[in-house]
Amino acid sequence: MTTAYYTFEQHFAHHTGDDHPEHALRLMAIEQGLKQSGLWDTLDIIQGTAAHEPDILRAHTHGYYEQLKLIQPEQGHIYVDEDTPMAPGSLQAALYSVGTCTQALDDVLAHQIHHHNAFVGVRPPGHHAEHNKSKGFCFFNNIAITALRAAEAHHLQRIAIVDFDAHQGNGTIDILGNDQRFLICSSFQHPFYPNSHYQTGRYNNVINVHLDAGTGSEVYRNKVLEFWDEALNNFAPELILVSAGFDAHRADPMAELNLEDEDYGWLGNWIAGKAQPRKVPVLSILEGGYDLNALARSVVAYISAMQ
Ligand SMILES: [Zn+2]
Repeated sequence: MTTAYYTFEQHFAHHTGDDHPEHALRLMAIEQGLKQSGLWDTLDIIQGTAAHEPDILRAHTHGYYEQLKLIQPEQGHIYVDEDTPMAPGSLQAALYSVGTCTQALDDVLAHQIHHHNAFVGVRPPGHHAEHNKSKGFCFFNNIAITALRAAEAHHLQRIAIVDFDAHQGNGTIDILGNDQRFLICSSFQHPFYPNSHYQTGRYNNVINVHLDAGTGSEVYRNKVLEFWDEALNNFAPELILVSAGFDAHRADPMAELNLEDEDYGWLGNWIAGKAQPRKVPVLSILEGGYDLNALARSVVAYISAMQ
């Protein structure tokens, strides 16, 4: 099955400063890795578009959106929270992040492209952005916006979200928690940033998997199978969205987990195994991943396993 790779050039204008871990080289490293592996030539490469405002306003308040427009700087950069820099081109990049995700969604659901599988290389990422708050490098919650568009514009009733980033997808749960149209499976180092929305039992549609610092391949894979496998089968999703963060890798400087390249291949294979028998579309959206070499290799392993 051919995979589509969506990205956009406007992210280059999201300057985050010399010392910030979330920068344009991340997407460049992924692209280089895909080319070096030979995978690039097998992918449909598609340029994304800007967001439609109604899509953003399903997940975020109007006031929050207007506030971002008002505070965007004309030069240099400001910080919208302690971790999230905003440059003159950041808001446009964030709008392209959202728009590229929703475009990919429309494509995989409309069968306009001859596959049901897409990977969206975006920045800024999204899963820490809450209903009315920027957080953790994120302005708009790309995956929650995509999920809400799938439910409300495409009328899907069961949408699974798998978040294997090393950090809790607090924003996604803030927006979609206790909404039965969504099943959210999130694995993350605990206790760790962002230290919110991590409780088990507080949300009836969330399966949080806490990972001790140092967790490696075998323990991780067993937890995925123990906590998510049957739940995902029973939920029988019509669409699987993935918050694909690669910062649980052993080499990543932003977390203390010990996954290997091969674990991302295993995850891709496991997700494809849930999707392909019933022809369920899969849309994977980039979140974290800050060691450039490990990020590139892990994305190659993940996409290869889904082909
Ligand atoms: Zn992360």
